[in-house]
Amino acid sequence: MEKKEDYIIADCHCDTLWFFNRNGYRFDCLNPVSHIDLPRLREGRVKLQFFAVCVAADIAGPLQLQEALRYIARYRGCLEQNRSALQAIETAADLEQALREDKIGCLLALEGAEPLDGSPELLDLFYTLGVRCISLTWNKRNIFADGCAEEESGGGLTAAGRRLIGQMAERGIILDLAHLSTRGFFDALHCYDGPVLVSHTNAQALTNHPRNLSDTQLKAVAANNGVIGLSFYPPFVSGNEKATLEQLLDHFVHIAFTAGVEHVAIGSDFDGITATVEKLEDASCYGALVEALYRRGFQEREVQLITAGNVRRLLQTILAGPEA
Ligand SMILES: [Zn+2]
Repeated sequence: MEKKEDYIIADCHCDTLWFFNRNGYRFDCLNPVSHIDLPRLREGRVKLQFFAVCVAADIAGPLQLQEALRYIARYRGCLEQNRSALQAIETAADLEQALREDKIGCLLALEGAEPLDGSPELLDLFYTLGVRCISLTWNKRNIFADGCAEEESGGGLTAAGRRLIGQMAERGIILDLAHLSTRGFFDALHCYDGPVLVSHTNAQALTNHPRNLSDTQLKAVAANNGVIGLSFYPPFVSGNEKATLEQLLDHFVHIAFTAGVEHVAIGSDFDGITATVEKLEDASCYGALVEALYRRGFQEREVQLITAGNVRRLLQTILAGPEA
């Protein structure tokens, strides 16, 4: 297809930091164990990649802070070693500079605010280290909110969660609503002063999974001018361990129809998932997704919004800096 090479990709979620310093993984080489590395980000034309620090799934208690700092040290080491190819995205201007210089923008995110547990003043430290996006929970309950695996309790945000969200909005940190309970989702949406992100999710109307969003939630994100990153995890896409590219496209079409194309983005969840959508095996495969978006009837402007434009707008709003 003639327009296939025009695209650039912004991906709102991956768990690749988990691989750093493990099993011989090297970011600058092709790695058989991972979905993401420098050669494949280049091949897939990825220009903005969120890198999540997720410790809640593996570790409990105070060690979470230590582990999060270890992840961040590895991430910063990687940026330093690959300075000619990578650019840390801490302001909207950083992203525009990265695009001008043809570098890959890297945005550091906390998936689950557990490392801040009991010490909200650490938010400033994480900000200084480059964190620009935080989701309150992973699946379980923590001091800030109930995750999506606690749905039956009907719980939402705690007072600490509300305070944290207020501080994030003040500093210009993106609020990610992925993994929250339904009540937590709406509490957080109403608390945060600005457009939100739901970094990796799909449509509940097509696949009834607790991690997916209902049509009411999709419309609420649209009303907030937020952005929804669509995940490539087969259980969210099809309800089982296998999913086709067309099934994923059904989610793109449904969410664009329900929320509006200005709110649709990509949140692959590469390296956090054990199976992938057919034809989207790793970060080098985005050409197949772009081609499929055109095939399903999206126009050039709409494809550009989905692949990067909407996330760029979100960053321009939240990471605008104090003078904006
Ligand atoms: Zn996740």
